[in-house]
Amino acid sequence: MALFKSLAVIGPGLIGSSVLRRACETGLLADQLIAADISPAVLDRVRELKIADLVTNNMAEAAQAECVMLCVPVGAVEATARAVLPSMQPGSILTDVASVRGKLGPTIQALLPAGVDYVPGHPMAGTEHSGPDAGFSTLFENRWCLLVPPEGAHDHAVQKIQKLWELCGARTKILPDDKHDRICAMVSHLPHLLAFTICDTADNLSEEIRAAVLDYAASGFRDFTRIAASDPVMWRDIFIANKDVLLETLDRFVADAQGMAQAIRESDEAAITTRIERGRRIRRTLIENRQA
Ligand code: NAP
Repeated sequence: MALFKSLAVIGPGLIGSSVLRRACETGLLADQLIAADISPAVLDRVRELKIADLVTNNMAEAAQAECVMLCVPVGAVEATARAVLPSMQPGSILTDVASVRGKLGPTIQALLPAGVDYVPGHPMAGTEHSGPDAGFSTLFENRWCLLVPPEGAHDHAVQKIQKLWELCGARTKILPDDKHDRICAMVSHLPHLLAFTICDTADNLSEEIRAAVLDYAASGFRDFTRIAASDPVMWRDIFIANKDVLLETLDRFVADAQGMAQAIRESDEAAITTRIERGRRIRRTLIENRQA
């Protein structure tokens, strides 16, 4: 028997369509799969891909599902929750996959109709691509999904969302909102900010040097451009939603970069080597933790 009678994915882009693909392939997530979006082009593509039983632009219709998963950009989560919650049935669960928690937890918890639970989870998996064609069923395999249930969420609902992500191949961990946002600022938001800025710096070089950089881009710059190719709306929303923590993390980075600059200015070989070795140690730990 599947985990849910019905699962509605609102915003079947990279993350949402990956969940739908996994659900179609295994048959273990839900007996009925619903995909909802405001974009007719997205809905047409989801129909062609045949990854949902019902495809609709009607949020109230999608809200009839036993589990409603919001996979829209961070800035649209609250408004989408407000659109579906009045139509959700007692005993059903609302979840989202937003990359920043901020005040979303308590805000949405306060809007819940009687008998509806809210258990968000953030899969620590993704690519620089977006839209329904970008998804694939193994996206979450062996990756972490961080669950951030607000105070008052019922255990049975938390366990069901935990099970949903395990069926997607992920490992799960329950965390408080603020800790989640701190971790993500370091592991995801700051690296994206740096990648966008490095490309910006390259773009602002004189025309002649800029063209040569793009011609001869070696692995370091090329790796940053992959991250920098990410969706502008998604990252705009993430930076603004995690503003305070991200700026604090950026300040620490700037101080450390200035420390490295000072070591280079003074040709301080020991200080430079120590900093580089720290990077190698972190990479080794990542490999040991199966996150590389
Ligand atoms: P995506 O591929 O762009 O998919 C988002 C989908 O939501 C698109 O189909 C989009 O349609 C639709 N949409 C936008 N605004 C909407 C609204 N107001 N109502 C209904 N549908 C709307 O994005 P994604 O990468 O899957 O990200 C979705 C969520 O997952 C975000 O909250 C993000 O923070 C989170 N997340 C992303 C990653 C990652 O690496 N990508 C990882 C973990 C979590 P249009 O294309 O027509 O706008």
